[in-house]
Amino acid sequence: MAINIHPSVDGGVKPGNPGFGGGTLTCKCSSNPVTVKISSNVAFNHVCGCTKCWKPPGALFSLVGVTGRDKVNVTANANKLKIVDEKAPIQRYACTGCGVHMYGRIENKAHPFYGFDFFHVELSKDQGWEEPKFAAFVSSIIEAGFKPDQMGAVRARLRELKLEPYDCLSPALMDLIATHAAKAKGVLA
Ligand SMILES: [Zn+2]
Ligand SMILES: [Zn+2]
Repeated sequence: MAINIHPSVDGGVKPGNPGFGGGTLTCKCSSNPVTVKISSNVAFNHVCGCTKCWKPPGALFSLVGVTGRDKVNVTANANKLKIVDEKAPIQRYACTGCGVHMYGRIENKAHPFYGFDFFHVELSKDQGWEEPKFAAFVSSIIEAGFKPDQMGAVRARLRELKLEPYDCLSPALMDLIATHAAKAKGVLA
């Protein structure tokens, strides 16, 4: 059985360019596409198995990373964007024409990831985005209907691609969340 993690990594993960300065995301509409300019490289790029991220057809995982919210600017057809779920911690702005999620934003200032916007580098033709380095929320693909008895094969394939599988976020991101919680509680200066 071929395991389609995501089209951007299925042929092997290509390293990005550390000096890359950003590019433009374009939605899938054949006319009047939404474009979003990202004025930096991507950080924490990874494949994600959660059921909220936008995924291309046939992919088990999304490809998603972050940048600072001040680096994200909608440059065309902003009127086509609509928030998928206003109550979700990450407000994902989807194109009402093609369904692609152009970026996700956190408005709750107390959220550990406030200040980061989420986006999918595959929507950009520009080359050099930092490559994905891990797999998050791997077990969550079962929630989308994937057979639990094939999870071993999925995790093996992710390791083969050097995308270490985690069932939550990576240790670096889990540490950020815990640090934020500890500071909020006052147990850490
Ligand atoms: Zn579109
Ligand atoms: Zn996700």
